[in-house]
Amino acid sequence: MLDAIWREARERLRRELAAKDYETWVAPLHAASWANGELTVEAPSAFCRDWLRRHFLPTVEAAVTQASGVRATVLLTVNRELDVRGAPERTALRAGVGDPTLVARYTFDGFVVGESNRVAYEAARAVVAQPGLRFNPLFVYGGVGLGKTHLLSAVAHGIASATRGATVVSLTAEDFVNAMVRALRADRMEHFRRRFRNVGILVLDDIQFLAGKRRSQEEFCHTYNALRDGQKQIVIASDNAPHDMPGIEDTLRSRFASGLLADIQPPDPALRLALVERKARQRGFTLDADVVAYLADGWCANVRELEGVLTRLHAVATLSCREITVALARETLGPRAGTNATTVERIIAEVCREFALTRTEIASARRTARVAVPRQLAMYLCRHHTDVPLARIGAELGGRDHSTVAHALDAIERKLERDVRLRQAISAVRGRLRA
Ligand code: ADP
Ligand code: MG
Repeated sequence: MLDAIWREARERLRRELAAKDYETWVAPLHAASWANGELTVEAPSAFCRDWLRRHFLPTVEAAVTQASGVRATVLLTVNRELDVRGAPERTALRAGVGDPTLVARYTFDGFVVGESNRVAYEAARAVVAQPGLRFNPLFVYGGVGLGKTHLLSAVAHGIASATRGATVVSLTAEDFVNAMVRALRADRMEHFRRRFRNVGILVLDDIQFLAGKRRSQEEFCHTYNALRDGQKQIVIASDNAPHDMPGIEDTLRSRFASGLLADIQPPDPALRLALVERKARQRGFTLDADVVAYLADGWCANVRELEGVLTRLHAVATLSCREITVALARETLGPRAGTNATTVERIIAEVCREFALTRTEIASARRTARVAVPRQLAMYLCRHHTDVPLARIGAELGGRDHSTVAHALDAIERKLERDVRLRQAISAVRGRLRA
């Protein structure tokens, strides 16, 4: 009876609550007894019990009433045995001890450097040389597949092997949030705080995951302050610059912005050539110059894409016993990925759509904010998602010259800093560009 009622009630709750609420608050519960219309339910911690009582008790009682067919009340108690043992630390590592979750091949030596990623690379090396001293925090940002995680891992390895005894903790923002939620549930926040505040170096990947999560941001802010005060190195990666992260509280953004900001741009032409050669060599084959040029030109918008393309090409060539030629590449890979020109046009089209402008309006001479701001935004996105020179970007947007575009980029960065709605607009456009 007890089991049947609770199973049915949980089923109803699962349908009714947001998946995350269900997973966090209901899934860990245990039904202990059922008598006279009263269901006793055990929660893993006092925190969890109080939270349920405050937020979900009427919902839980309604579900139990429907499941049992009698007007039910729910009594919440604590049973610490239910405490989900903090799942094992996935990514913390002690100096000198290899950690399998940190990708071993992500080293500085394996990182190909060019104009578009040099600042980030140099900054990462400087951090390893003098952790906590010069560039704190180091904030690396850039698009997908451009080497952020690679650089962060290289820093974590580098510091772990250079310093004896310092604890390097390297994890994603998602891991951080999950660890925090587990600690909250298990009523072990003190332990959680102590652990993160005592690390020697904190490396946090994909910080954009904190967007919109106020509680996690607050907690991270405390951790951050404690580490900064103790001159502990913090290294962060994000898909966007601090001023361009919707859903991140100002307190946190200004802290990120106070360190060294290092962006990684899409690879420039010289770097693309170097990457194609190096990645091919790593896979044990060499390519003719014309194949290298072909791949560098059309198939290297980001490095992850290039790696996938090389793997496919190599497999096809091996299986069909053919040489890798431009013809084979064309045949295997199909039509080229978006070129710079099509990307610029797509960006402009998506910005027009977002702001309900026509292509003619956005490239017109008009300077009213209704047109000028979207135009600046389009320039900004072209600058960040292509390697088209500023003069060409200006030409596409009404014949503006290099310095006008540079000025527009400054202006829009300042606006993004202040304007939440603009940050939301830009992330909506980015979302559609990725689709
Ligand atoms: P991100 O975290 O920016 O999305 P990753 O660091 O995961 O990108 O990189 C994707 C892949 O591309 C990885 O296999 C990484 O080793 C490789 N890669 C990226 N940039 C470089 C580079 N400059 N040199 C060598 N490999 C790179
Ligand atoms: Mg990454």
